[in-house]
Amino acid sequence: MSDILDLRETSPNHWQAKYQGNYGVYTIKIATDGKRRGEFSCSCPSDYYPCKHIPDEKIPGSAALAAGPG
Ligand SMILES: [Zn+2]
Repeated sequence: MSDILDLRETSPNHWQAKYQGNYGVYTIKIATDGKRRGEFSCSCPSDYYPCKHIPDEKIPGSAALAAGPG
């Protein structure tokens, strides 16, 4: 099950996704060097860092795409 509403590569190696969570739609931004996760942010109110919406050390795009956009 995936709650990703939208996923796009906004610029080379920079990904932006919208995620339907329990408290609304969150915007997730992740940069990658092509192999591993780089800088990231998520607009959800989670106290965890990184929160559960951030793919773990994988290429964000391929990981999210593997899960399917919905
Ligand atoms: Zn989050």
